[in-house]
Amino acid sequence: MPFVNEKTFQRYLQEGREDDFHKLVDEGLKRVEEQLGQEYPILLSDKEIKTTSKLVVKTPIDTSLTLGVFQRDNGDNLRNAIKIAKEAHQEWKDSDWRDRVELTVKAANELRRMKYELAATITFENGKNRFEAVAEVDETIDYFNYYAQLLEDNRGYIKEMEGRIIKGEKGISVMRPYGAWLIISPFNFPLAITATMTLGALITGNTAVVKPSSDTPLSAYKLVTTLRRVGFPVDTVSYVTSPGEVVSKVMMESLDIAGFAFTGSRDVGHNLLKEFVSLKPRPAVLELGGKNATVVTSKADLRKAVEGTFRGAFGFGGQKCSATSRVFVESQVYPEFLNRFKARVETTVIGDPRSKNTFLGPLINKGAVDKFRRFVDQALSEGGRIITGGRVREDSKSYLVEPTTVVDLPYTSSLWRTELFVPIVLIKEVQNLKEAIKLVNDVDYGLTAGIFSNDEEEVEYFFRNVEAGTVYANRESGSTTGAMPGVQPFGGWKDSGWTGRNAGGPYYLLSFMREQARTTYD
Ligand code: GLU
Repeated sequence: MPFVNEKTFQRYLQEGREDDFHKLVDEGLKRVEEQLGQEYPILLSDKEIKTTSKLVVKTPIDTSLTLGVFQRDNGDNLRNAIKIAKEAHQEWKDSDWRDRVELTVKAANELRRMKYELAATITFENGKNRFEAVAEVDETIDYFNYYAQLLEDNRGYIKEMEGRIIKGEKGISVMRPYGAWLIISPFNFPLAITATMTLGALITGNTAVVKPSSDTPLSAYKLVTTLRRVGFPVDTVSYVTSPGEVVSKVMMESLDIAGFAFTGSRDVGHNLLKEFVSLKPRPAVLELGGKNATVVTSKADLRKAVEGTFRGAFGFGGQKCSATSRVFVESQVYPEFLNRFKARVETTVIGDPRSKNTFLGPLINKGAVDKFRRFVDQALSEGGRIITGGRVREDSKSYLVEPTTVVDLPYTSSLWRTELFVPIVLIKEVQNLKEAIKLVNDVDYGLTAGIFSNDEEEVEYFFRNVEAGTVYANRESGSTTGAMPGVQPFGGWKDSGWTGRNAGGPYYLLSFMREQARTTYD
């Protein structure tokens, strides 16, 4: 079957069934609310393991509620998981790719069945609003269906070679897995990003040890149990909740990890990679941070530019690697853009993401709120002017902050180069597109970028010169954000990733495989 995106909300909208959508989301929320406070084990082979030390995770939407109680591994379980994954790889590496495709499609169907429970889990875990939470489940299902299709299209990455040097000689290129992969996933896409990395390993014949963010371990638990339920052998995929420092220690000492996939901040990613390859060179799939920019030219549709920039900057509180963090606006339209942008931001509904009207829920934790405060203070002390937001909503049960727009910030400020990961956007006037592109590229990162212009030549010029792995023109749904598998392969250049094979794109799975050239003679 050809790949088709899930796009749940768009379908309900087209069919005029928005109310049904909301009803399903509400039911999902109710179901997950009933599960709050449960305890979840580490999953190793067919064993459910409980440690004496626990990780009690609260929900950021109401910190008086316990999302779940998880196990705090001291390293022993992670070491065991790696051992199990290494052994299991001996058999899994030779599993038929068609069987792996079948399991993957089964898993996609099972995830679809669980769609609203999973979306609600995300909302409780990280505070994402219902549209974004359902979109994340859609993205997850899309990864499964897209990678299954990719393996089909490439016939399991087995390719007969056409050349001959000697009569009777036959060459075949076969892409082979590496072994046991460690999957380290972030809080902001606890299901979708865990899924792309875990499935990337599994579908290509590697085995996986899943280590979720300590802020959001529940979606990953549900993902791993789903994979096992549809038939991925228990030894091919384990689930371990170890604190970050334990993970980095084990990675340093273990030669049994064949590769690791990580999505998170640049500094953590770089340090892990350095430690990992210091033992021996090994592959890594890394998706790191961003400092993404949007350019608005005088030829832009300003309505679209305002809406797209608003969504790109403040969707999920800017807690996306892809978030729009810098905006460069051509001087002819700068004053009007600012006025309209300010008016749009002021309509933002901030609050409990369980409510269907909420656009902006809480930040992930207190640390993020402290960071928000620090960046606002820095912007003000360095001469920036705040035209929207800037405040923390003092609410004892949640981590609500206001969407914040900073203008007139001197370009010498480090805020122009630092990934913020909170809802703060910096806007600057520029003279022309050339100057804008120079500024867009003037950072170490190169993840996403966007332009608003109705001039095709301007757009083409922007695409050719911008140093980023995922670029958009006139994206009203969120200028630099919201990539979907099979549509926008997502990944970065420069410090944002550099491996250059984007998730949800045609080359992603190659990162989890190495080529074996086989030669035989008649
Ligand atoms: N893929 C997401 C997007 O395009 C961002 C993923 C991330 O933040 O790591 O918005």
